[in-house]
Amino acid sequence: MDAALNNEKAKPLNFIEEIIDNDLKQGKYQSILTRFPPEPNGYLHIGHASSIWLNFGVAKKFGGKTNLRFDDTNPVTEETEYVESIKADIKWLGYSWANEFYASDYFDQLYNYAIQLISQGDAYVDDLTPDEIAAQKGTPTEPGINSPFRSRTIDENLQLFEAMKAGNFQEGSKTLRAKIDMASVNMLLRDPILYRIKFAHHHRTGDTWCIYPMYDFAHGQSDSIENITHSICTLEFIPHRALYDWCIQKLNIYPSHQYEFARLNVSYTVMSKRKLLQLVNEKHVSGWDDPRMPTISGMRRRGYTPQAINEFCDRAGIAKREKLNDISLLEFCVREELNKSSFRRMVVFDPVKVIITNFNESELLLEGENNPEDETSGFRAIPFSKELFIEREDFMENPPKKFFRMAIGQSVRLKSAFIVTCTGLEKDVNGNITEIHCTYIPESKSGSDTSGMKVQGTLHWVSSKHAIKVELREYERLFLSENLATEEGDFKEYINPESLKIISTAYAEPALENATDAQRFQFLRKGYFCLDKDSQPAHLVFNRTVTLKESFSKEVKK
Ligand code: ATP
Ligand code: MG
Repeated sequence: MDAALNNEKAKPLNFIEEIIDNDLKQGKYQSILTRFPPEPNGYLHIGHASSIWLNFGVAKKFGGKTNLRFDDTNPVTEETEYVESIKADIKWLGYSWANEFYASDYFDQLYNYAIQLISQGDAYVDDLTPDEIAAQKGTPTEPGINSPFRSRTIDENLQLFEAMKAGNFQEGSKTLRAKIDMASVNMLLRDPILYRIKFAHHHRTGDTWCIYPMYDFAHGQSDSIENITHSICTLEFIPHRALYDWCIQKLNIYPSHQYEFARLNVSYTVMSKRKLLQLVNEKHVSGWDDPRMPTISGMRRRGYTPQAINEFCDRAGIAKREKLNDISLLEFCVREELNKSSFRRMVVFDPVKVIITNFNESELLLEGENNPEDETSGFRAIPFSKELFIEREDFMENPPKKFFRMAIGQSVRLKSAFIVTCTGLEKDVNGNITEIHCTYIPESKSGSDTSGMKVQGTLHWVSSKHAIKVELREYERLFLSENLATEEGDFKEYINPESLKIISTAYAEPALENATDAQRFQFLRKGYFCLDKDSQPAHLVFNRTVTLKESFSKEVKK
């Protein structure tokens, strides 16, 4: 069966999918097995989301499976905190792995593979320091120099390697190197280092080991041990492929194959974990999950949804060449999804008081649709009373033509409530407006309007005595440069000093009192928001997920 035909959208296959499709058609594999191999040295970011979407996505599409493998061969930078966050992020993105493995689980096996290579005369212990080895590597146009220790006997190598493992030598004093070709055009084949000495505590194996395999002597072998069919990585590993294949061939193990695609880059941000760690450590952000970070946890806290992130990965697709993806595509996906799923609420950011002079009841409970895009979403009660707040910028004393908001003598609709006509105002001694006076038209109630009046503007509002004070956090891009890869100097020079704006004057309609973490909101005419984890029952904090973008007149209908 052609699994690709099951693809609902019938989108053309990307080049990795084509390879897999062909392999399956030719009967090369009965089923495929991919892996997502994060190094637990930081939190996952949007680039990882693309790799996750690809690895888990192709397996799902072609009826295969995906392993989660922690590539934890460098004990110095790895921590359990990262392991936990990575698992939580993958689950949140909606994927489940067939097996959870750790490269460190294979340390014994990898050691045995090293012994096998030494025994075959394919690896040797070198006494040169890593710096001396680098200095003798040659250049792309000049061959390297053979190490004086290259011709050690197999027995001597076996003894020395065992002594390395036993902790008899200092860090940097010895390495195990593959014996390949110091004149190879591929610099990575010039006797690459396979093992180095490191007296470091490992987050899983503790102090059991003082020698650790290099990436090239762990990754491919781990793939083989797990019978990974398609090992998908990013372009910088193209030159490593020859070494990947050399090891498989020399060790005569399961022939996994490596395929490369271009990393996902996104405008106005950095993605390297090393740089993200600097932002955290130097307190440019509040943590890995700061809503301005391109991390999965940051985006989650900001209110992005897994569906929107996966949709972005799908639309961005994969390429064979690096390019810069526009962050606004991600924002578009977020907006598109939140428009369908978010609850509409009213929040006044910069309030000015409105008195409804002809409203003499204590309150009236009105109804507002939770979400006009979703018939099943129901209604919430909105209290209306004599004293309201509207947005200060929605009133003008001397309005220009086509100002369809509130002005003396003009009528506007209050969303989900009534048409009101502005009759006057009061000011303090400094000339600041303290109160706006309006009359309401009782027959104009939204949903049962018999007034026959037509107005151009619709405003959001809250009843002052029912409203709750909330804190709002508005985020802008963390960096001012669109493409940081092309900038000179330190990336931190491009940090946007105004990437966070805190609004502490806002009043929200009372329905927001019961907001939950899982809910998403559209604050009418203002943007999409979600509850932040800093919220306390008496002090709710909302993050702006993304702006509405559309102009207000389009956005708010009666
Ligand atoms: P970084 O450079 O951000 O530290 P990394 O490649 O060192 O990333 P890993 O934890 O080794 O991070 O990555 C796990 C997997 O995610 C790898 O297969 C890697 O190729 C992939 N990956 C990392 N960054 C990106 C990206 N920007 N786009 C696509 N895939 C990525
Ligand atoms: Mg890496």
